[in-house]
Amino acid sequence: MITPFIHFDYQQFAYDWSELTASKIIEESERLRIAVKQATDYVWDNTHFILETSSGQAGLIIQFASDDEGGIIECWSARTRCSIDCLRIGEPGTETRKKLVESLEEWADQAAKGKAYCCECHKWVDAFKTFGFAGSACVTCYNPKKHLPPDTSGS
Ligand SMILES: [Zn+2]
Repeated sequence: MITPFIHFDYQQFAYDWSELTASKIIEESERLRIAVKQATDYVWDNTHFILETSSGQAGLIIQFASDDEGGIIECWSARTRCSIDCLRIGEPGTETRKKLVESLEEWADQAAKGKAYCCECHKWVDAFKTFGFAGSACVTCYNPKKHLPPDTSGS
């Protein structure tokens, strides 16, 4: 099966979309998703966005979601497929937007190196364990009683 992905340059948010409001960014991502879905006749209704690193490697898998404060971007590592965290999109020129741009670039670089983001201590680590469907914790924070394997019971 062929899975289409939309690749963004790491500077997408710093340049092309720097003047767009959070809601406009979400609108634009949805427009792109539908255009690619139609062009590829792909059935899965989910976003498939990859944010590349400055050296052109796949860094993050990102997904856009709107909320009361404009919207967020959910991030996963394109290498380990583990979940990282959500970032608030924020409005142009704000500290929130500045943090988004910085975090996306840093996270894409770390993820492309194969590192994982520990959900407990919020650090990038080389040694980690996975749990659930997309969780990761560093070997120090990992607790098998808390960090359970995926629930495949179907209930
Ligand atoms: Zn940790």
